[in-house]
Amino acid sequence: MSTTMSVKENIESILSEMPQEVSLVAVSKFHPSEAIMEAYMAGQRLFGESRVQELLKKIPELPEDIKWHFIGHLQTNKLRQIIGKTAMIESVDSERLLEMIDKESEKAGVVTNVLMQIHVAEEETKFGFSPEELEEYFVNRRFENLKSTHICGVMGMATNTDDTERVADDFRRIASMFKKIKEEIAPDLRGFDTLSMGMSGDWKIAVKEGSNLVRVGSAIFGQRDYSK
Ligand SMILES: *Cc1c(COP(=O)(O)O)cnc(C)c1O
Repeated sequence: MSTTMSVKENIESILSEMPQEVSLVAVSKFHPSEAIMEAYMAGQRLFGESRVQELLKKIPELPEDIKWHFIGHLQTNKLRQIIGKTAMIESVDSERLLEMIDKESEKAGVVTNVLMQIHVAEEETKFGFSPEELEEYFVNRRFENLKSTHICGVMGMATNTDDTERVADDFRRIASMFKKIKEEIAPDLRGFDTLSMGMSGDWKIAVKEGSNLVRVGSAIFGQRDYSK
């Protein structure tokens, strides 16, 4: 990404390098609605946000055919506010959150699409299920208790490092857990198709390892200003 390039040019450049079967989530967190509109005019319809208040502010400012993916840690006390407003919650990082999403979705009369966030990266602060916890959840078929939630796949992040072998290794671990659930543990689980891996710095590695949904922010919109 070059700072002299426009949002439109950045999107076009990423899409030109991306296989057609991979979907691009433009991560617009900390960027204003005007920047999202620039991406929209370039044809982008899928956007990712990580904060509830920011998402709720942006939705009415922008076209209705935008699909929003929630990608941040979701506090259960804020959850109800976004039920029915997202195309997908990619960041389900605990069973408790999943159960609350299901309960609130049922109450609201909607079905919520979710991804299970898996944690393999080194950083201690990362949210998500460990591979063992995730496997245990599916082996015991607890997803069968869900009434208004559709588990569409898995989301994960690699360790934040310049060591590309390490990054590829993390993505392989996430991808192999996804594949194991899909092909061995719960092959009857319908629509379990989405493997969300890869951000600005590592999406090409992620795609090579099987990702079909990438979440790219700064390579499209530039650096985020966290003071906002
Ligand atoms: C912010 C964020 C991204 C985008 O990160 P960039 O490095 O700016 O592309 C992707 N995924 C998640 C979960 C994020 O929080």
